[in-house]
Amino acid sequence: MERDCFSLGGEFSSRERERDYRADYLAEGARHVRRAFLCAFAINVIFYINDWSMEGRPGFLSGLAARTVIVVLSLLCALRARHIAQPRDLDRLCLLWSVPVIPACAVLVMPHTESALFITFVLPNIFYLLFPTSFATTLATGIACSVVVGAGYILPAPLTETSFGLLLGMTTINVVLILVVIRGNRLRRSEWAAARAERQANRALTAHQGMLDAILRAVPTPLLITTRDGAVLIRANDAARGILGEEAVKSWTGLAGMLGWRDATRLSVTLELDGQAAEFETRLRVPGGASRDVLLKATVTDVGGTETLVIVIVDISTRKEMETRLEHQANTDPLTGLANRTSFFAAAEREVRRAERYARPLAVVMVDIDFFKQINDAHGHEGGDQALKAFARLCRSLLRDQDVVARLGGEEFGLLLPESDPASAFALAERLREAVAALSLAPLPVRMTISAGVAALHPGEDAVDPALSRADRALYAAKGGGRNRVLHSDVPDLGATLAGLDG
Ligand code: GH3
Ligand code: MG
Ligand code: MG
Repeated sequence: MERDCFSLGGEFSSRERERDYRADYLAEGARHVRRAFLCAFAINVIFYINDWSMEGRPGFLSGLAARTVIVVLSLLCALRARHIAQPRDLDRLCLLWSVPVIPACAVLVMPHTESALFITFVLPNIFYLLFPTSFATTLATGIACSVVVGAGYILPAPLTETSFGLLLGMTTINVVLILVVIRGNRLRRSEWAAARAERQANRALTAHQGMLDAILRAVPTPLLITTRDGAVLIRANDAARGILGEEAVKSWTGLAGMLGWRDATRLSVTLELDGQAAEFETRLRVPGGASRDVLLKATVTDVGGTETLVIVIVDISTRKEMETRLEHQANTDPLTGLANRTSFFAAAEREVRRAERYARPLAVVMVDIDFFKQINDAHGHEGGDQALKAFARLCRSLLRDQDVVARLGGEEFGLLLPESDPASAFALAERLREAVAALSLAPLPVRMTISAGVAALHPGEDAVDPALSRADRALYAAKGGGRNRVLHSDVPDLGATLAGLDG
């Protein structure tokens, strides 16, 4: 608190401030003054006993009258103190009490007794220290008490040797008390000002927090504020509660728990290197809820000297679902649900690379339905479609998980058989051929057969095309050989044996 804030008496220089200060302490001051008057009443009632001991001596009656003034006035003022409404009323009441009480006290000390000397020294203390009035009132009543009561004690009798000492003593007490009052005034006001400043700062802080909360709530994008490591959730707006669920926000288990350790580590490394993660694609695992594909925008921000993480969540689940659906559509034959040509060649490229790298066998089979045109002609295009779907179902039931079957054209299909040597690939194609021949297309009264050509990926080949060409040639050879048969381009004997058996 600066020096200039206080007047000489230790009060606030600013009138408004002083008024506020006194208004704040008015209720307490009024209670205090009331108690003081009651004490004065009680003590002076007790002093009547002392007064009676003076009966018959000079000054007895005047002393009794003075005592009565103090007793009655103290009681009246104590009653009046209940109705103090303003700091000014407090000063007025204390003045009202002091003006008759001070001369009454002067009368009481006139007999020059030892207790009178004691009272002469004690009384100014009461006037300076007891009443929480303005400095001016305190000063006025304190000095008036000292002068009037001091005069009451010294003046009536011829001046004694101690009179000068008494005068010096009284002066010293007054100076000391004035300094004590000034210091007390300053200290109390400094405390009050500090407490008020703290209250104001708290109010401002609460207002700011309220504003921040309101802004957070109004932001339609899910927003989280966590500690730097994501372990403690500091704030989450309504949109974030919506996406994560109330439970996940309430019992926050940490960002790592939601992202999984792999993505959590990836995010942490990105933040470490760049201080932010602009488009961090991940999947949020909400406890007890569905997972969500999201884009995170995370920034490390210094908030009051503490590093925090501000995370904006963009829900891309719908976009992801759409992408997945489109991707599925782009890779799937709509009629049969099998892989389409594009997807077949993408898978073939993958499998060829794998087979090459690990020197593993890979086989391809080209399949064509025999006389399919006749099915169409006999049962219409829809009948033909039913036959194609039935063939697709059969393929799916016969092939292993790692095998790929795709519709490459109208009634032409391609099979990709990883880890299959020529013999097992041929055996599989044969099983398929037999199953198709035995397949009932009920209610259509139709039997269907297929021809197939099998080929293996040759060592050193880094694309599937040569193997497919060989399989195609074997297929046409099978067609030429009478259909409903399988030929292996690399092991012609296999097919020939079968053809021989059939024949
Ligand atoms: P081959 O034994 O020589 O293969 O005789 P094919 O009749 O099967 O051969 P072709 O290539 O002459 O006939 C294929 C027919 O398949 C012609 C076409 O109308 C039919 N087709 C192609 N795509 C579809 C389709 O999606 N649905 C139906 N129902 N028929 C189709
Ligand atoms: Mg055909
Ligand atoms: Mg064909």
